[in-house]
Amino acid sequence: MFPSSLPSSIRVLERGWLSANNIVFLDDARTASVVDTGYVRHAAQTVELVRHAAGGRHLARIVNTHLHSDHCGGNAALQAAYGGTERCAIIVPAGEMQAVNNWDEDALSFRSSGQQAASFSAAAELSAGDVLELGGMPWQAHAAAGHDPHALMLFQPDERLLISGDALWELGFGVIFPEMVGEPGFALTRATLRTIEALAPALVIPGHGAPFTDAAAALARAHARLDAFEAAPERHARHGLRVLLKFHLLQQSSGIALGALFTWFAGTDFVARTLCCFWPHVEPRTVFNEMLDSLLQTGLARSSDGLVFDADAP
Ligand SMILES: [Zn+2]
Repeated sequence: MFPSSLPSSIRVLERGWLSANNIVFLDDARTASVVDTGYVRHAAQTVELVRHAAGGRHLARIVNTHLHSDHCGGNAALQAAYGGTERCAIIVPAGEMQAVNNWDEDALSFRSSGQQAASFSAAAELSAGDVLELGGMPWQAHAAAGHDPHALMLFQPDERLLISGDALWELGFGVIFPEMVGEPGFALTRATLRTIEALAPALVIPGHGAPFTDAAAALARAHARLDAFEAAPERHARHGLRVLLKFHLLQQSSGIALGALFTWFAGTDFVARTLCCFWPHVEPRTVFNEMLDSLLQTGLARSSDGLVFDADAP
């Protein structure tokens, strides 16, 4: 939990990279809320962590900054643990509720990006401009498009706290997925960074990594990174493919056969669309080999006996 200077009604549960951080709010003596719930494989652990942080309070609300699999994968387990849809309301970004309640995995990007989630149902939508009471304080919702078109950030104006999701990390930001398939994202990302600049947060609670105070330095790094990606969109697409591969490896605790990893890569719709956009005349196997070599050479993955492992796997 971090840091001790946070208001006492907020608990930040910093998680590993496969699961986004969870921010637990003690709303009053009896109820709590949580922002983002991690990846589905970690759902049981998330329920335990949130239960502990909530200190016996009932979890009445789950809020998602966006619906990527590492941010909403614990929604179903938490909702089930706290009495189902009647007693634990899930609030999703505006524009996503219909896709959630029809569990349209294509619209929700899980299937197309080769990831998993457990289905849940949403009770309400949150729009940019809305104010939400969390931990006894008002939080403003701000648009955070770029990484994900529907993404939101939450800002507490009195304490100047920002929950940034994947829009700003201490070192960078989430892949701008729309740009990998020929849809706009760079300009939206720049607008989101400008929004953060204008909010001038004293503390940023990111979706991944520890909370940090030097938002100006993080923004300067993010702008430089965005400028470089925009100048060379192919470089960004390569980065995005490496991130998807790394994320898939993180899920394989005992490694994955090289052939099975390629089968996943070539069979994932979002990857196919990226290849079609950037390398339409290159064999998928060639791009795959290049991405995997890059992960191996930079120490982000390792291989032995025909199996590929995430670098941090035991
Ligand atoms: Zn994300």
